Amino acid sequence: MDRDGSELVHGQFQGIVNDAQRKHIAIRQANEDIRQDRHMKGMCWGCDTKTFVMPTLTDACFKCSYKRGVEKIIAIVSKKSWGYCFFCAKYTYHVAQLNVQLCIKCTRIVRKSHAAFRKGGGMFNVDPFWKYQKQKLGHDWKDLFFNPEHWAKKI
Ligand SMILES: [Zn+2]
Ligand SMILES: [Zn+2]
Repeated sequence: MDRDGSELVHGQFQGIVNDAQRKHIAIRQANEDIRQDRHMKGMCWGCDTKTFVMPTLTDACFKCSYKRGVEKIIAIVSKKSWGYCFFCAKYTYHVAQLNVQLCIKCTRIVRKSHAAFRKGGGMFNVDPFWKYQKQKLGHDWKDLFFNPEHWAKKI
C-alpha cells in the first residue's frame, strides 16, 4: 500500500491503491472493450455507448449477457441456477453475478428493481419460488423446508 499522486490510475481516485488492484487495472486497460480513458469514459455494458461508466456488480441471465456482449464482461463472480435478472426484471434460470461497467442510465434500471424489492419486503419475499413454498407448507415453512426429515417422510 502506498500513496502516489504523480501516477494517474485509471478508473480509480488518486490515492491508496494496493498491488492487486494495480494488477487488475493493468489487465483491464490492456483490453480494448473494457478500458477507461483518463476522463473515466468507457463503453457501457448495458446500452453500448461511450460515456461515463463505473464498474459495478449486477445479476443478469444468460440471454441478457449474450445480447449485450460477453467480451465486455470484466469478470464472472458467481453462477446460479435460479436467480433474479436485473435487466429483464424477473426471476429466471441460469443467472450469473457479473462485474461490468454501467452508465448512469443503466444503473437506474437496476435501481428500479431495488425499489420494487423494498416495496415487496425484501428479495426473499418477492421470489416466486419461496412464495410457492410458503403457500404449500404453511406458517412454519422455513423450519419445514430446511428440515431433511420432513422431505424424507414424503419420499
Ligand atoms: Zn448504459
Ligand atoms: Zn435477463
